[in-house]
Amino acid sequence: SPRLYSGMQPSADSLQIGNYIGALLQWRDLQSTHDAFFSVVDLHALTQPNEAAELRDKTRRTAAQYIAAGIEPEKSTLYVQSHVRAHAELAWILNTITGFGEAGRMTQFKDKSARYGSDATSVGLFAYPVLMAADILLYQTNVVPVGDDQRQHIELTRDLAERFNSRYGTTFTIPEAMVQKETARIYDLQNPTSKMSKSSESQAGVLWLLDDPAVNRKKIMRAVTDDEGSVRFDRETKPGVSNLLTIHSALSGRSIAELEDEFAGSGYGDFKKAIAELVLSEFEPVRARALELLDDPAELDRILSLNAEKADTVADATLSDVYDRVGLLRRR
Ligand code: ATP
Ligand code: MG
Repeated sequence: SPRLYSGMQPSADSLQIGNYIGALLQWRDLQSTHDAFFSVVDLHALTQPNEAAELRDKTRRTAAQYIAAGIEPEKSTLYVQSHVRAHAELAWILNTITGFGEAGRMTQFKDKSARYGSDATSVGLFAYPVLMAADILLYQTNVVPVGDDQRQHIELTRDLAERFNSRYGTTFTIPEAMVQKETARIYDLQNPTSKMSKSSESQAGVLWLLDDPAVNRKKIMRAVTDDEGSVRFDRETKPGVSNLLTIHSALSGRSIAELEDEFAGSGYGDFKKAIAELVLSEFEPVRARALELLDDPAELDRILSLNAEKADTVADATLSDVYDRVGLLRRR
């Protein structure tokens, strides 16, 4: 079966509903048709300021939420990026074939570095997409399910793989991005024209998977809408209502058109109540299972360690081939 690779940064204590709808729900289905590798990309998280104990905690919490959402560590390879040394090692090799200008054109880097200012912008942040290319290429990946914010990084990954293959002989599988449809993108409830993110500055518009249900209910009831008072989908003029329709549709499995019909006569209050019920009942078992897993960190660490061994085997084979091809003298 085709090889699949994806991951998330442990950049918060909890995942947000966009990660759940845009990534975890797909991952859960794809693990039955693909040989899937799901990583908690802690090396990537180091490109932002972190307190050591907090990063460790966020890493465990992210892994627990993968499992709680239905990623099965016996079926898929669910591991922590830094447990597999080959990631950092391949990234170095790929750094040497990446153009400075090429990396500088990445829009995520341009956005983030503009926000941080030049003193807080690290070389690590600049090289982030190269590490991401290493993540993917180590596993001879066929498909990478990502949000459309990651399209440019996958393009770079393909370019680097092709460049390496033509310079040194065929070594890497050329991966394809699997980009979800636009309706799988979730926006901030208070600012429905920008993407909901774990690292959002304001918490008010973010629904956290592990948050107290009463808090999430309140956030949904306070979500920004408009004064037209009718439940219909129009991303341009009604971004708030459209976002809520997207959330409903993703969790209930019903089409936007069906939902527009159902809520045709309702006010926004009733519409939001229905969404709150849906979100809370979806989150409840995931939250409970995640907290249970976090209660036994030794068992969680054991699962992660077994999975890191599975990942190591595949990654080492690729890295060893790469080292031979570029001419590194091997230790005997
Ligand atoms: P950060 O702010 O740290 O970048 P994030 O919420 O954007 O956090 P990532 O770790 O960058 O999360 O991405 C994890 C996965 O979740 C990716 O597949 C990404 O495309 C997806 N994702 C993130 N935010 C959303 C969203 N708002 N809607 C749909 N999918 C999303
Ligand atoms: Mg992101």
